[in-house]
Parts: sequence; structure tokens; C-alpha cells
Amino acid sequence: MPTYYRIAPLLANQPLGATVEVRGWVRTRRDAKGDFSFLEINDGSTPANLQVIAEARLDNFANEVRRLTAGCAVEVVGTLVASPAKGQAVELKAEAVNVRGWADPEHYPLQKKRHSFEYLRTIPHLRPRTNSLGAVARLRGALSFAIHRFFNQRGFVHIHTPIITTSDCEGAGEMFTVTSLDLEHLPRTADGRVDKTRDFFGQPASLTVSGQLEAEVYALALGNVYTFGPTFRAENSNTSRHLAEFWMIEPEMAFCDLAGDIDLAEALLRQLIGEVIDAHPADLDLFCRYVDKTLAQRLDAVANREFARITYTEAVARLERSGRSFEFPVSWGADLQSEHERYLTDEVFKGPVVVTDYPKRIKPFYMRANDDGTTVAAMDILVPGIGEIVGGSQREERFDQLAARMDEMGIDREQYGWYLDLRRYGSAPHSGFGLGFERLVQFVTGMANIREVIPFPRTPGSAAR
Ligand code: ATP
Ligand code: MN
Repeated sequence: MPTYYRIAPLLANQPLGATVEVRGWVRTRRDAKGDFSFLEINDGSTPANLQVIAEARLDNFANEVRRLTAGCAVEVVGTLVASPAKGQAVELKAEAVNVRGWADPEHYPLQKKRHSFEYLRTIPHLRPRTNSLGAVARLRGALSFAIHRFFNQRGFVHIHTPIITTSDCEGAGEMFTVTSLDLEHLPRTADGRVDKTRDFFGQPASLTVSGQLEAEVYALALGNVYTFGPTFRAENSNTSRHLAEFWMIEPEMAFCDLAGDIDLAEALLRQLIGEVIDAHPADLDLFCRYVDKTLAQRLDAVANREFARITYTEAVARLERSGRSFEFPVSWGADLQSEHERYLTDEVFKGPVVVTDYPKRIKPFYMRANDDGTTVAAMDILVPGIGEIVGGSQREERFDQLAARMDEMGIDREQYGWYLDLRRYGSAPHSGFGLGFERLVQFVTGMANIREVIPFPRTPGSAAR
């Protein structure tokens, strides 16, 4: 009986002389004159292909093996031998090639040449079969697992916050409405408005933009918690770093101030990147070679260097002094635009930078007021090439300050009674942040567009498949 192997461990262990079976998809077939063919097989476990030698003595050689083309699914049994030729250390001498699925070469859209990422986006159901998108998927999975490991090692409880929410002002971006009303026949109130009390939940509901407020509930009971789930923003941002549906990691810690919050975010990024560098060299190498030549150096800077820290006020001063003419003018009180963030990361600090203490006017109601009366205990982590990857803050734990701020911003105290209760009963300093998972995958792979790092991207005007 042959031993079934995935190609990654087969190439790593090289059990020469063993009879093994591999299952995967043909990348190419090359015919040597007359009596044998080379098949390159990829099974999705590594970017590397396994070379298979199929000889004419195979009983299906003429009518099947010689008809194999890119995309065909095969199971191959054979003997692993040292390869006499350059390019691979080992190859599989086939004893049987079973074709499980044909792929009509007239129509199969993935041919041997390199396709553009834009083109691959039009075939999201086939693009994970390419080297680069396959590597993205493996790294994405590895990062997800590493995130859970990081928090688990530190005793954080993983909590599941709701995806459907009735809070209408979680403080970030536009929300998607969730409704079961028939849009063609809406129930009306006496004065002609849509009667939202007749909707599924008896009140308006939306898809969550963040699990933070609910995470605060659990942090103030369990200490340290995190959520890692999908979030939704109906903002019309057609950029290379915004999606309408993206995943976010949101830790929340009781008895923790802004400095502790930054330390955790920095430790998380450092450990994740360190682990990927150690555990996934083959996938990472593909991005360093074909996607972004400066990637290795940039990842190294995160894994091995302290992040720079600067206040918003200092950052604005640096930008004003830069002598640059930015598309969006810099002035104290305005939010940093991506070009400003890039200037700080790519040119001033040449690495990640933590910007703290933003003006309260541009930040949500729940951030803790600083003593100066104009800024809040907020922090964003900016990384080269991308800009903001983490946004966090110390939360306002003082009842009076929070209630006053809500009044100022026109937020209904009654609707947020539960949130204020957390400040009425056993309130404690607490902090947290949101790390955008796709921005992290973008940073680790060097992919220029966020649409390449999520399997089925949802963006304005586009949610095919
Ligand atoms: P940006 O200013 O880049 O639009 P934001 O300040 O609106 O982001 P936050 O509300 O702070 O974002 O969300 C926390 C994190 O979630 C961000 O730091 C980022 O990594 C990620 N994120 C936010 N919006 C998106 C989006 N539309 N697509 C992908 N990731 C996002
Ligand atoms: Mn932010």
C-alpha cells in the first residue's frame, strides 16, 4: 500500500525509495520524445510542484496521460527517487496516474503564463489555484491560527460578539441595514413613514461595524477578552485598503491604560510576523521575489525593532515642517490622510509608528478624554506601505465624562443605558483596539490591493460569488 503524502511534507522529508501517493492538480505536462512525459503537480500544500515522470508502460499513457492539461485532477502512485536533473531534488516515478477530473483546455482560464491580479479577480472561484493566491490563503489561515494562539497563551477569553446589532452609533463608518421587510410593500405608520417596529426585531437593525462595545461588557466581567469576526462598512471607499466586509481582531482589557494597549498591539504584530517568517518560508519567499522586493526588509523591521511613538500633535508638526505639498492640507484638528500616514511611516520613521492622543473632535464618543480637554487617549498604528493597521483607545470609564460626551454628540442615553451601566457598576479603566485582519495579510504578503487577500472581496458595486 502506498503512503499518502501532501506535497509539502513529501518535499521536506524526501523518503527516497518509498511508494507514495499524491493527489493534486496538473500545472503543466511536458512530453519527452517517444516514451515518457513530465507532469508538474500542485496539491495546494506549498507553492512548490512535484515533478512526476510518467512512462509509456503505464496502461493509460497514450489515451489519458498524454491528454492531461493544466487544471486536471489526478492521483499518482509511484516511487520517490532522487532527480537526476536540475530544478528539483526529488521526483515521483509513476506506477499509476489516475485521472479524477478533466479540465477542458479550450476553456480552462488558468494557463501557464502569469495572469494579472485584476484578471484573477474576475475568476474568484479558480484563482486560489494560482501560486500567489494559494500562498495568500495559506498565510491568511496561518495568521488566523497564530492570532488565536497569541491570545490563548496570554489567558484571553475568545468571545463571539453579535453580527446583527441594534446599536446605531458604534462610532465607525456607515452601516448596512438588516431587514426582513418586503421593500416593495413597506408597512407604514399613520403619518406615512416606514413602520420599523414591524420589522423582524421590532426595531431597526444593522450589520456590526465593530464588536468593541460588546467586548467591553465581557472585559468588565472576565478581564481580558478578544473577538475575531466579520465587520461591515457601507462606506463608499474604493481604495486599495477598504472592503465592505472585512475581519477584525478586537482585544479588550480591564485594568489597562493606553500604554498597556499599545504594548499588547506591538507584541501581537511582532509575534505574528515572527511566526510567519519562521514557519512559512516558502510562501513568504514567493511574495519577496515576485510581489514586493522590499518585503523581507519591512517584515524584519517589525519583528525586530521597537515601534516609533509620536503624539498626533507632534505628527502634525512634523508634517507641517516637511515642506511637502500634500493633496490634503495638514492642520491640527483634521484627520491624518493616507498620504500623511505614508510620509510618517515611509519617510520619517522608515518603519511602524504609533500615533497617540488625537483631537477628540475626530474620534468616537467612547474614547477617554485627556486632561488637556482637547485630545483623547487614542492610538493608531501605522505601517509602511499601508498606513493605519490598528486603531485603538483607552475607553472613557468615568460615568460623568462619558454621559456628558454622549449628550454633546447627541447620543441617546436611554439606548445606551447598558453601556452606561458598565460605568455605574464597578467601572474600571479599560482599553482595546481593532486590528484589521486583511490589512495585516496585506502587510505580510506585500499585496498592493486588499481585494487579493480575502477569498471573495465585497466592495462597492461588487459582490459576485
Ligand atoms: P481608515 O481610516 O483606514 O478608513 P478607520 O479609522 O475607519 O480606518 P477603525 O474604525 O479604527 O478604522 O477600524 C479598526 C481597523 O480596522 C483599522 O485600523 C483597519 O485596520 C481596519 N479597517 C477599517 N476599515 C476597514 C475597511 N473598510 N476595510 C478593511 N479594513 C478596515
Ligand atoms: Mn481608526
